[in-house]
Amino acid sequence: MTFNRLSYVDLAGTASDGIALSDEEAEQLASLDPGEAWNQLARRHQCDHSEMEVRRRVLRNGVTTYHRQCLRCGTGAGAVKKTSLANPWKLSEFDEKAAEQWWETCDRNRKKLQAAQERARTSRDTEWWEWYDGYLETPAWRRRREAVLKRADYRCEGCGINRATQAHHLTYKRAGEEMLFDLVAICDVCHERVHPRTGSQ
Ligand SMILES: [Zn+2]
Ligand SMILES: [Zn+2]
Ligand SMILES: [Zn+2]
Repeated sequence: MTFNRLSYVDLAGTASDGIALSDEEAEQLASLDPGEAWNQLARRHQCDHSEMEVRRRVLRNGVTTYHRQCLRCGTGAGAVKKTSLANPWKLSEFDEKAAEQWWETCDRNRKKLQAAQERARTSRDTEWWEWYDGYLETPAWRRRREAVLKRADYRCEGCGINRATQAHHLTYKRAGEEMLFDLVAICDVCHERVHPRTGSQ
């Protein structure tokens, strides 16, 4: 079974109004391959500091200095000489909290993505098992099952003693399109031993 997967989520449009992930964006990212999703989030958390502004910064000791600050992520850059500034008193104040807020937002985004990925995984699992239950009712499955039992001459390939009654999956990789060597003929007792939890085929 295949799931519809987007290959890319366009996050670029929202950068100007903050980098916080909306619920919808988190869902979209969670539908991607996890590696790709984390890459895209990391790219969103990058800042090239293309918009810097000189700001007035009063240090703890009361001395006024002038620093450039990134308007997006709050990163501060080296000091600027007062003499090089036309109207230093007109400058806005350096935002001491901006960088911290940026990092907090990045952190929240990461947690949001993680939660959305978990939700997506759970719903995919549920979907998959629902599909699988349906598949076990199809003629295609019955044909494969019968062929596997026949191949083993209806003897359990687990214990070699009991009558084989079920086809057990060695792998679900090709579920729905199994090769016969993905399956083994097995008796109820052995099948219970192999996976008592699900009771699936
Ligand atoms: Zn920046
Ligand atoms: Zn057996
Ligand atoms: Zn099984």
